[in-house]
Amino acid sequence: MPTRASQKRSPLRAIALVVGILLALMVGTVFILGLTETSPIANWLAGSPPQSPLIGIVAGHWQSDSGAVCPDGLEEVELNLQIARRVAHILRRQGYRVEVLPEFSPKLNGFQGAVFLSIHCDSCIEDRSGFKVARMTHSSVPALEDRLVQLLYQTYAEATGLKPDLNTITEDMQQYHAFRQIAPETPGAIIECGYMGGDRYLLTHEQDRVAVGIANGLLAFLRETHPSPSPTPQ
Ligand SMILES: [Zn+2]
Repeated sequence: MPTRASQKRSPLRAIALVVGILLALMVGTVFILGLTETSPIANWLAGSPPQSPLIGIVAGHWQSDSGAVCPDGLEEVELNLQIARRVAHILRRQGYRVEVLPEFSPKLNGFQGAVFLSIHCDSCIEDRSGFKVARMTHSSVPALEDRLVQLLYQTYAEATGLKPDLNTITEDMQQYHAFRQIAPETPGAIIECGYMGGDRYLLTHEQDRVAVGIANGLLAFLRETHPSPSPTPQ
C-alpha cells in the first residue's frame, strides 16, 4: 500500500519532470542552432555586437555535394566545413558577426558584408602541395579584392608553412558562382587550402593553423577597411 508521503511527492515529481524536459529542449535547441552556424544565434551566443561588420564564409560544397573524394573515403566537404567553423569561431571571438553558408545558399544572392570568402581544399594527388587564393576576374572592386588576396597569401603562408601553388589557379576559381551572386561591392575571394593528398596532415590534424592563417588574413583586411568602429575583442 502506498504511503501518504509518496502520494504527496508524485505531483512534485511530475512537475520536476516536465520542467526538466522543457529545460532539456531549450538547451538542446540553442545548442543545435548554435552548431548550424548559419543562424544569427551563433553570433548572439558569441556576444558579437549586432552592428559589428558581417563576414560571409562559404563552406565549399556544404549541403550540395562531397567535393573531391580520396580513395580512402575522405571527403573535401568535411574538411571545408570543419575549417569554416574554426575560422568563424576565431572571428566571432574578435567581435565580428559571421555567417557560415552552404555552397548554394539563397543568402548568397545580394549578400552584403564587409568581406566574403569561400573555403575549399584541393584534390587527393599525393605528390602535390600548396594553396592558392583568387578573386573574380571582372571585379567591381579590384583594388580591394587584390589587397584581400594579397593579405590571405601572406597570413596563410605564415601560419601553415605552405607554399603558394600559383600555376594551378583555374577559370573555375575566377568565375566562381558566388562571386556573381554576392553584392558587387562586397569584396570576396576563394581559397584552396591545400591538397587532400600532399597536405593531408595539415588539413586533417592541424586545422587550427589552417583556420588561424585564414582568419588572420580576414582580420588584417578588416582592420584596413573598417578601422572604425572597431568591434570589441573578447
Ligand atoms: Zn571544392
